[in-house]
Parts: sequence; structure tokens; C-alpha cells
Amino acid sequence: MLRFLGRGSAFTDDHNSAFFVKGSKLVLIDCSMTAFIKIKKMDLTGIESVDLLITHTHSDHISGIAMLIDLFYFTTDIKVTVVAPSEEVKEDLRFSLNRMDGCLDVWYRLVSAQEYEEDFFKAAIPTSHTPQLEGRCFGYNLLIDGKNVVYTGDSNTIEPFIPYLTEGSILYMETAFFRSPVHMHIDDMLPFIKDTVAKGIKVYLMHIDNEQEILKKTEGTGAALAPLYNGQDAVATLDMIYDITDELYKLTCRNEYSDHNELFGYLTRLGQNIVGADRASFWKWDKRRHELWTTAATGVDRIVIPDNTGLVGKAIMNKSVVITNDPYNDPDFNSSVDKKTGYVTKSVMVLPVADVNGEFIGAFQLINKLDDSGFDMTNDTRKLSLPALICGLALESDTFLDDAHHDRLTKLKNRIGFYADFSKKYMSYLSEDCTKPLSMFICDIDKFKLVNDTYGHNAGDQVLEYGAGLIEAACRENDNAYRWGGEEFIMLMPDTDLAEATAIAEQLRKAIEAADFPADGITIKKTMSFGVHEFIRGKSIEDNISVADGRLYTAKETGRNKVVSQD
Ligand code: GH3
Ligand code: MG
Ligand code: MG
Repeated sequence: MLRFLGRGSAFTDDHNSAFFVKGSKLVLIDCSMTAFIKIKKMDLTGIESVDLLITHTHSDHISGIAMLIDLFYFTTDIKVTVVAPSEEVKEDLRFSLNRMDGCLDVWYRLVSAQEYEEDFFKAAIPTSHTPQLEGRCFGYNLLIDGKNVVYTGDSNTIEPFIPYLTEGSILYMETAFFRSPVHMHIDDMLPFIKDTVAKGIKVYLMHIDNEQEILKKTEGTGAALAPLYNGQDAVATLDMIYDITDELYKLTCRNEYSDHNELFGYLTRLGQNIVGADRASFWKWDKRRHELWTTAATGVDRIVIPDNTGLVGKAIMNKSVVITNDPYNDPDFNSSVDKKTGYVTKSVMVLPVADVNGEFIGAFQLINKLDDSGFDMTNDTRKLSLPALICGLALESDTFLDDAHHDRLTKLKNRIGFYADFSKKYMSYLSEDCTKPLSMFICDIDKFKLVNDTYGHNAGDQVLEYGAGLIEAACRENDNAYRWGGEEFIMLMPDTDLAEATAIAEQLRKAIEAADFPADGITIKKTMSFGVHEFIRGKSIEDNISVADGRLYTAKETGRNKVVSQD
């Protein structure tokens, strides 16, 4: 398997360069400037020789060579062997290297493919790219870990490589989103990719000019992006952690940070990058609704599943990391998302996260290791530990906040929840330039104290719970019900005028009157009184509520079990 120091085209951040290690030999293919910088930071313990295979002499492919030669010459005893795909390219390289500052010809070995005798080296495959390099552009056929590997290099055609592709081969092919005569355009290559995958050949895409677009276009074809190397490169990992943290910090400084979901988004991306996964999501266990849902996910919309189900449910219930590298044969894997999107899941890792008391409250999920190796219990769990810990703490405070906004008995939002919702969703209705109506009613159970006094406090609680359920059921899609206190409730109805709100209150009043309330083993009848009000712009929330409250008082004073919507 090749691993990629970069898989981009000339103008992307990380230009195409790949490597594999055979025993004590490091074999590199192409050496861009960014590849050189990464090689410099690699842990090269155990490496005794370095061979560098060049596909062609465009500067984006060879700009790191001289420095690579310098690096090994000065810091180790290694003389880099530069392999040219042909005698002509060898002469071109000799010419360039001779003129590169500091790079003396005794510091490296330059050989042509014809002179290069390594078991893994099968052939340099001539192809065409720019007219300027006609006859001087090549791909390679290699044998790596017993696999037949074809690497196209830069090419505007796949034809020369086809004879080298046998079943079980691995093809690393360049592809482009922007159309040009010098690269293979993804639209033209899609039929070939599908055919090739169907023949049992693994297709990896490289030298990509726009990853997002290429990903979209190849969804469901079975092709994957060339696996990036993100192994023991501690400096690069720290850089990535810093970059993501810095973005998050800037977001919070700009005051655009509104809830923890954004934090989960950043941390999910962090976990995904650290482990080298294709997709990642962070799941919250909503104990109130008995659901698990994604607070942040890459590549898919929010997913909601019943708790105790799927690999996420399993990890939370078992309080342990779950890894499956053969998901379609795992009874806990839910393949419905794959069926919908055409995405092929090959490996899944779920790490449950706990609050400070050790209670499991959510989970990190990673899908598909980029290098296809599958997830590793020890290493990947360790890598994910810090983002998971921070997500756990953020999730815990999110849960605290959610608890603080809800009433435990009725499960409705409470007064704090009301004010939080108001400032987030409804405040704009009170501004002078808003033209849409906002209405509310406040309602109160009639003679509720009698329930407690006659049937006991438990019966009172049940009546409250049941009544809250009736109020909640009366809410339309955008309405919201709150327990205002004791046996008083408020309903907020956006885009609703006084007449409409009064009709809704009247309907609810009738439903309550007709209902049989459970009360500690028996059922009883209850009624409620209502004060309805359409918000007046320019007045404070409290002053508006006072108007509704006054009408509720009138309803009580004039006989109860009624709806009052006028002063
Ligand atoms: P009115 O028709 O005038 O509203 O009479 P009421 O009896 O409903 O009103 P009052 O304000 O006198 O009594 C409300 C009672 O509700 C008093 C309080 O103990 C009880 N209560 C408030 N919260 C709860 C609760 O969570 N559970 C139970 N069981 N009772 C509660
Ligand atoms: Mg009452
Ligand atoms: Mg009351």
C-alpha cells in the first residue's frame, strides 16, 4: 500500500507524493516541496536507504529533490538514489540537479529505470501529459506487499495503464475536476472507474484539484481518495490541532458562537483528522426522548435513532469502545444510511464518552479508516481520547443546560426555558418593524388545590402531568408550551393573531373539560381557565404577560372554565 504525503494537484496545499517502506528502504514517488517538508518531520528510525522514483520533471513533482538529497547527505550516511523513468529523463534530471544550489553529484546516485534493479520495480509506463514533455512522462508498475500496483503519475489518458491492471491490482490514478487537455477529467473517467472497481481492482484517486467536488462525483462508485499519511508525524498533528482550535477560538471571539453544536463540529473534525477517518459524528444520548442523535456529523444530515440500537447504542450500553472492520456482517450495524447514499462503510469505531461522574452520555463515531487498514482498538482509542474528553465535558454542560430549561414532572420547558426560547426565537416579534403577529395564552387548572387536598399530592402530580400532555398535544408545529409555575402554563404561538389563538385556547379548554384525568388509581374531571393575548410591539415581555395574566384573573373571577381574550 502506498501512503500519500499529499494527494493534490500543483496549486493545492499538499502536492501529490507517495511512499512505501520495504524493510529498511524508504521508497518515495515524486518529491514536491510540501512532501520534502513532511519527510523532514517523519520518524525515519530504521531507514537505511532512500530511493526516489520520479515520474516527470515538472517543478511541482521535483521541487523537493535537492533538499531531500541534502537532508540525507548531511544528517545521515544515506545517499539518495534518484530513479528516472527513462534515459532521457535521467539526463534532464542530471541537468537540473547540477544547477541546484549546494547539491553536488557525489551526494546522490542517479539511475534510470533500466539500471534500477529492485524486486518491487516492474516497469516505468510511458504516458502523455503536456506536449512540452512528450515522451518524458511516466507512470509506474510496482509490486508492493504482494500486490500489483499501478501509479499513473500525471497523465491525460488511462490507456497505457490498462494492460497492467489485473484482478486484485491497486490503481492510483490522477483525476481532475477542472477540465484541461493535460489531465484526466473525472466526468470522462467515471465509466472506467466503475468498470475497474467491478473487476475487483481497487481504485484510489490522487493528484486532485478539488477534493469536495471529486468526492461528490465519485460517491457510490467504489473509488476512494488516496490514503493520506498521518501517522507518527507529531508536528503535523500538533499543527492540525492548533489550526482547528484557532478557528474555533476565532469563532467564539467573533461572538458567532451560539451553542455547543459548533464546538462539537470542530471537535468531531479534530477526532476525524487525528484518527485518519473518512467521516465522523458525535452522538448525544437524549435520555428524555430515549433517542440517540448526531450533534455533529461530516457527510450526512442529522441522524436520530432509538437508544439501545446500532453500534452507538451498543457502545454506550456496554460502556466500551466498539470496533467493527466488517460492518455488513455485524448484526448491530445499520446499513440504511449506506443504502440511501451509496456510501460503502468498511470499518466503524465508536467510543462512548462519559460525564465527570462516569455516566455515559454520548459517543464519538468514526467511519472508514482512510488507509483501509481498519480501526485499531489501542492506538485509535488513545488518539481519540482528548477530543472525546472535551466533547464529554461540553455534552455534560449541554445536558445541564437542557435540564435547567425543563421541568422534570411535566417534561415541558420551564420559566428559564421560556426566556431562553424567547430571546432566541421570538424577540424579533417585539421589534417595531416586525409585521407578523405573536400570541400567547396563560392557563391555570381550576381548583387544583382540591385535588391535592382530596386525593393526595401524588394524584395532584398525575393531574399536572396529564394536563401538560393535553397542552403539549394542542401545540401546532411552531407553537411551544411551558410550565410557568405550579399549575399554570403558557403557550406561545408565532404567526398567530388573537382570534386564532383564542380559537386554539377554546379547543383546548373543551378537550380538558372532556378528559378523564388519572388521579392515583381513579379518574377525575378538571377544567382550566385561559387568558389570551396578542403581543404588543414595543412592550416588554413581562408587560405583555401581565396583560394575559389579567385576562386569566378575569376568567377565574367570572366563573372559571373559560377563555378570556379581551380586557
Ligand atoms: P384556582 O382555581 O383559583 O386556580 O384555585 P387553585 O386551587 O387551583 O389555586 P391555588 O393557587 O390556591 O392552588 C394551587 C396549588 O397547586 C397549590 C400548590 O400546593 C399546588 N401545586 C403547585 N405545584 C404543584 C406540584 O408540582 N404538584 C402538586 N401536587 N401540587 C402542586
Ligand atoms: Mg389554579
Ligand atoms: Mg395558580
